[in-house]
Amino acid sequence: MTKEKKPAVLLLYTGGTIGMIENPETGALESFRFDELLKQVPELKRFHYRIDTYSFQPAIDSSDMEPELWGRIVRIITENYEHYDGFVILHGTDTMAYTASALSFMLENLSKPVILTGSQLPIGKLRTDGKENLITAIEIAAAKRENGQPMVPEVCIFFENELLRGNRTTKVNAENFNAFRSFNYPPLATVGIHIRFNEHLIRKNDFTQPLKPHFNFNNQVVMLSLFPGIRESIVASVLQVPGLKAVVLRTFGSGNAPQKEWLIRRLKEASEKGILIVNITQCQHGAVEMHRYGTGLQLLQAGVVSGYDCTPECAITKLMFLLGNDLPLEQVRQLMDSDLAGEITRDKE
Ligand code: ASP
Repeated sequence: MTKEKKPAVLLLYTGGTIGMIENPETGALESFRFDELLKQVPELKRFHYRIDTYSFQPAIDSSDMEPELWGRIVRIITENYEHYDGFVILHGTDTMAYTASALSFMLENLSKPVILTGSQLPIGKLRTDGKENLITAIEIAAAKRENGQPMVPEVCIFFENELLRGNRTTKVNAENFNAFRSFNYPPLATVGIHIRFNEHLIRKNDFTQPLKPHFNFNNQVVMLSLFPGIRESIVASVLQVPGLKAVVLRTFGSGNAPQKEWLIRRLKEASEKGILIVNITQCQHGAVEMHRYGTGLQLLQAGVVSGYDCTPECAITKLMFLLGNDLPLEQVRQLMDSDLAGEITRDKE
């Protein structure tokens, strides 16, 4: 009889509340050693999995996350790709949605689970949400279909009781355990007594393609949120920043903006200068449909492209990623208009 191979999961700790401890003098939460964190979860030994660990030194609060560190995560995954069934990344919640979005583009042809999780309370606290998040994330990272293929070959966030597509996710709560939402795409799994995967919603990957990691970003971008009363001088100075390559413009409703002559002129001039302007809505649910109202149509005529139902986190990381690849502007435009990693619902416009 052949012995079945144990599932193997690589657990990567980048930092965040899950692994923090209270400084007795200042009361602030600070990172502590990863091996100490694991001691707090003796339950991990009950998994009949091989769980190896890797920790950022020093661990970081996710507010300090940077594209270079995304590159480090991708390097670790790439170097260990063949040796593990799945990867769990422990990450602070504050910028987890940005990291998940970035990784979804950086890990082209991903065919193994990359599950990000963290917690609202440190793992050493009695009421911590970290233990359950960690344990379930590991189980999901190792889950297989009947044919032996990974159940969720995607970058996801698991938090509280939902598995969400990473590039569809937003942090919505700084208080509750239920901190993340995916407004425009249903959960890939819901977790209660059972882990129920919504298999039809999970990406169908071509498992024959080798992983193609990417590392470059261009951060000559800005996110500009419109509001009633926004001043021309402010918009003009943003659009005139030397070297600016792209703008994520957060508009109203289904992608509408004030009908000010100066606004449309400034956006058109910027667009003609080669600055890519991507329209996303300030609404959490729903998509940009620039044809719907005159106030949206004028943006389309000014050369603004639709971001569809993309989250702000995803729009900005996708732009930085595409611009980092030194593609011609027309190709970046086309790719912003395409679904690369399940991040937009293309049939809305
Ligand atoms: N500031 C922390 C971080 O993002 C918050 C958390 O982990 O939830 O690293």
